Amino acid sequence: MKYVLEPQRELPIIGEYDVIVLGGGPAGISAAVSSAKTGAKTAIVERYGYLGGQATGGLIILLVGLTDGKQKIIKGFCEDTINRLNELGATENIGNHVLFDPESMKYVFDCFIQENQIFPYFHNYVSNVIKTENGITGVVLEGKSGRRVIKARAFVDATGDADIAKYCNIPFEQESKDKTLPVTLGFRVGGVDPDRISKFIRENPYYYKSLLTSMGISIKIGGWTKTVHKKEAWFNISHVENIDITDTQDLTRAEIIGRRQIHQIVKSFKSSMPGFEEGYLIDTAPQIGIRDSRRIKGVYRYTNEDIARTFTDSIAKAPDYSGSGRGSIEIPYGCLISKEINNVIFAGRGISVDHKLIDMFREIPCCMATGQAAGIAAAITSEKSPMADFHNIDVKQLQEKLLSQGALFKYHDNYSEFNLETAMQI
Ligand SMILES: Cc1cc2nc3c(=O)[nH]c(=O)nc-3n(C[C@H](O)[C@H](O)[C@H](O)COP(=O)(O)OP(=O)(O)OC[C@H]3O[C@@H](n4cnc5c(N)ncnc54)[C@H](O)[C@@H]3O)c2cc1C
Repeated sequence: MKYVLEPQRELPIIGEYDVIVLGGGPAGISAAVSSAKTGAKTAIVERYGYLGGQATGGLIILLVGLTDGKQKIIKGFCEDTINRLNELGATENIGNHVLFDPESMKYVFDCFIQENQIFPYFHNYVSNVIKTENGITGVVLEGKSGRRVIKARAFVDATGDADIAKYCNIPFEQESKDKTLPVTLGFRVGGVDPDRISKFIRENPYYYKSLLTSMGISIKIGGWTKTVHKKEAWFNISHVENIDITDTQDLTRAEIIGRRQIHQIVKSFKSSMPGFEEGYLIDTAPQIGIRDSRRIKGVYRYTNEDIARTFTDSIAKAPDYSGSGRGSIEIPYGCLISKEINNVIFAGRGISVDHKLIDMFREIPCCMATGQAAGIAAAITSEKSPMADFHNIDVKQLQEKLLSQGALFKYHDNYSEFNLETAMQI
């Protein structure tokens, strides 16, 4: 490969904050709101022009993993979001899950940042860090306005891909391409009758699967549901395997293959699926859906051995899909921090967990829950000057703040007999 030398240049510092949240997905917006509510001057950086990450831009319009089959296991910021969406008439309950309208979610998140005086930096890609011995003092933003720096004492990496770990050379795990879960381009169709489609698929499961496999589409994962709008359905069935999600050329290929699959699927379903005859493609997701990516090697790495454990430093809960029958598990604070860096905390799908258990930690409500803990922790530690230290936090204080913001984190908070069948209805 040939190289060029990039000349050194001075970068303008355009803002200084207590806390900067990197990435505006479910974990990031939760972290930013929770940090601001705890009293920190907070900024959020997002590469696209809206908040919500996969939930809005990936068209992942179903909140899963909210309950243990009977009672809620995740509240706090997630519940606040659902309540606001309810006020807009933008949700519908399906079993234990909550369907929502992604455009309404974008709007609700805009309202949250305005109401909590959070400084938004949309259309800015975090491309590097200003590194010192034990931490970072700022991040480099790239955008139409050029290359600029914003500074803070504490940072939350909610990029989903632990980008800051990469920039700081902090140890992380990432599965090889063949072990990474498929990427999926979600899409919505209008003019359909979801009840007739549902009946047809229920009565003809093998035929439905054969339609997909005949187009070369994997049936190992994915699904579909009606949406909150009449005559509309959402599918996440166009999968591309063997993708390195940190390789932009692989991602380019996946987007193009994904869209090609979707056009094939719509054409095929129109001619063969009752309820789909008048169907038309409304949209494909603006960003391809990524299930797993880099995960930090944290101070604590959650494994199967931990399912039955409770932790003195628990800060969030996740649904238990291990089959143990416990219903929910506790996430310890140590999964969110790396011993290699003092003032960065991680939230969302980039936290320190065994890949075999990733499904329990990557759903939107759980990402919001770890985001809430990270945001409050950042606000608390950012009081320390000149640099926060996430290793020296008073976890009890963090837990008290979590409680005051309505979050759940203890197994016994609301234990009930677990019902896996109802928890996983969709
Ligand atoms: C196909 C599919 C189906 C799924 N189904 C469900 C489901 O039914 N229910 C459910 O609850 N969950 C589901 N999930 C999981 C869930 O959507 C994600 O795991 C969750 O959104 C992760 O949240 P996050 O905030 O950690 O990351 P993301 O949602 O990925 O958000 C990360 C944000 O950071 C931004 N960003 C990244 N890098 C940078 C950078 N360098 N600079 C600036 N901004 C950056 C991104 O643009 C994005 O907005 C599904 C996921 C996929 C892919």
